[in-house]
Amino acid sequence: MDALNFYAKRDIRFEETAEPAIEKDNEVKIKVKAVGICGSDIHRYALLGPYVPGTVWGHEFAGEVVEVGSAVKKVKVGEKVTACPALYCGECDSCKKAVFAQCEHLGVIGQYHPGAFAEYIVMPEENVVPVPENVPYDHAAMVEPSCVVVHGLYKVNLDPGESVAVVGCGTIGLLAVQWAKIFGASTVIAIDIDDSKLELAKKLGADITINSRGKEPFEEVHKLNGGKGVDVAIESAGTPITSAQTFSLADKGGRVLFVGIPYGDVMVKRLYFEKIVRNELKVYGSWNAISAPFPGREWTTTVHCMATGQLNVEPLITHRLPLSKGSEAFEMTAERKESFGKIMFYPEQK
Ligand SMILES: [Zn+2]
Ligand SMILES: [Zn+2]
Repeated sequence: MDALNFYAKRDIRFEETAEPAIEKDNEVKIKVKAVGICGSDIHRYALLGPYVPGTVWGHEFAGEVVEVGSAVKKVKVGEKVTACPALYCGECDSCKKAVFAQCEHLGVIGQYHPGAFAEYIVMPEENVVPVPENVPYDHAAMVEPSCVVVHGLYKVNLDPGESVAVVGCGTIGLLAVQWAKIFGASTVIAIDIDDSKLELAKKLGADITINSRGKEPFEEVHKLNGGKGVDVAIESAGTPITSAQTFSLADKGGRVLFVGIPYGDVMVKRLYFEKIVRNELKVYGSWNAISAPFPGREWTTTVHCMATGQLNVEPLITHRLPLSKGSEAFEMTAERKESFGKIMFYPEQK
């Protein structure tokens, strides 16, 4: 089969690869119909390199079941599915407590287990999530990034009527804007330095947008939010600067949620850090997208809201490509030559 294999930093190859086969009776073989590039893939491509050189990469996908092991009950051949790409060990203390996101050995497909930038993938039944027919494959491939946001929002217990600021309007931020509204936020403030992303945030439900380039987001938020901070400030840009700024956006007694991963040291100015103490903030880290019973209600909730149309991921997809264009697509992300959102591959397209 065709696949995109990750060899080294900035070296990903489209090549003929052995097709995976079902080896255990609880496994499901899926024909991949759509698979997206994750923000973490972009960092790994340019900066970190693969875990095992030559492994099939990619973890945000959806497809059609083509074969099931003899013990599989959840899905049948021909069904539309996505799959949770996380693999937990089941043996560490966190797993014994069923807090799978904190598993000591948490992995993801594309590290050691072959990933989804391929025509076929084999997954354990437990990871497979059925998707209703009215959700297109490329939308279903975005269930995982949506679950990352939902996992975080469950932690902060967002109540209807609360105000939310979302810092960074990439895929995760734009999903956070929509989910904040679904959870019932009265005011959602979207913050970014790219006007086109802010425009999209507005279309997807943001009430207020702030271009923070050259500005102090703390002052802008207070100016536009009746002189107050927000109830929940969400960091979804994953940069050191925004990670520090986000502390300053929450109102007294507010919550700060970190979903983004800054790949660098975070220097926190006194103005920002002081807010944690003076405003008695609650600070939440949120990792991955899984909970118990595995893979968690993040998954069923996302699929439900995609099927009802409450969650609209269509405008987030900016590039639609065959797998053979994988190398060019990743180089584009590394060079940041053009503005991009979700880049989606369609392995059936030649
Ligand atoms: Zn991802
Ligand atoms: Zn574990």
